[in-house]
Amino acid sequence: MKAFSLYLHIPYCERKCGYCDFNSHAIKGEQPEDYPAAILKEIEWAAKNTQSKQEVSTIFFGGGTPTSLPADDLANILDGCFRFFNIAANAEITVEANPGTITPGYFEQVKSAGFNRVSVGAQSFIPHELELLERIHGPEAIGRTVEQAKNEGFDNVSVDLMFALPNQTLEDWDYSLKQAIQLNPNHISAYNLTFEPKTAFYSYMESGKMTPPNDERQLTLFKHTLKSMAEAGYDQYEISNFAKPGKECRHNINYWNNGNYIGLGAGASGYWNGKRRKNINSPVKYIEQTLKTGQAVDFEESPDQATSIGETMMLGLRLSDGINLGDFENRYGVSLSEQFSKQLKYLKSEDLIEMNDSHIRLSKKGFFLADSVILEFMP
Ligand code: SF4
Repeated sequence: MKAFSLYLHIPYCERKCGYCDFNSHAIKGEQPEDYPAAILKEIEWAAKNTQSKQEVSTIFFGGGTPTSLPADDLANILDGCFRFFNIAANAEITVEANPGTITPGYFEQVKSAGFNRVSVGAQSFIPHELELLERIHGPEAIGRTVEQAKNEGFDNVSVDLMFALPNQTLEDWDYSLKQAIQLNPNHISAYNLTFEPKTAFYSYMESGKMTPPNDERQLTLFKHTLKSMAEAGYDQYEISNFAKPGKECRHNINYWNNGNYIGLGAGASGYWNGKRRKNINSPVKYIEQTLKTGQAVDFEESPDQATSIGETMMLGLRLSDGINLGDFENRYGVSLSEQFSKQLKYLKSEDLIEMNDSHIRLSKKGFFLADSVILEFMP
């Protein structure tokens, strides 16, 4: 059975980190107390409009900072998902947690509400790096958060890290990796910091105040990540994601498989039966409109086949397993080998991809050049 997911966006943060290009808003001056009622309306609307009887296999509360809301609010919102959707008994239900927001008892409440996975946004274990990133917590709060989650019985805990920070040495990165591994989470994400347009970091870069490491340095840090993760028993199942066996994030795997998911909340997007839908970004407008009409859709589009195939290639090649050839043919009515015969010939000759009877995936060399390999498949 194909996976089907719900993504719920909580758009508030205590303050905006300089590198962040998510739809996140400093909570002061917003109306977080009205947000649960609004998103509950949208949950009801979406359940009726999609008329889905299909079982929901994963739910993900992301942000923003979901844990900037009181645990009761998250519990109420999750309860709404259970009331209006058909949630599988073994559904993976994740909440992203910022270590700077977790108070004693918080995880106890979210655990009893039904969450069974916590993704802790650590980013670094070095005080000056956390300051540079404008995070609201120090290193000690990360360990405390992971321990609190485990003590409340969460056996599925992930830690997010970030590398390729300005002036970051290999020793710095090694230190953060080791600290994360020592906490023994069963999943670690390690993202390469990118300077996205419209972020504060981007303007610092443009004005020469901040310099990202060059490509060679980034590659060195990435290679060190792969080595450290393998030595610590984490399998790389996606370019930036590593898990102990059986602890891969099912929600994100559905996303990388270009599967169906419904996005709920301000700025959330979803992909449902060939239609991509995105909500308006402004939390204030989202609340106002959703309370009146049940939804706050900004736009809806049906990507044509070429675009959809491009997305499937772009997302699926990020996975270590790659893309299932049978699934591709069933979905698009054309075999991947025929669709991309020219590109495949070239990429195979350069040892950038591997293909067998059932899958196509990036080779080891291809993983280091993923962006340029993926570009070959874009319409
Ligand atoms: S906590 Fe996360 S979502 Fe919020 S501003 Fe920082 S990076 Fe963005």
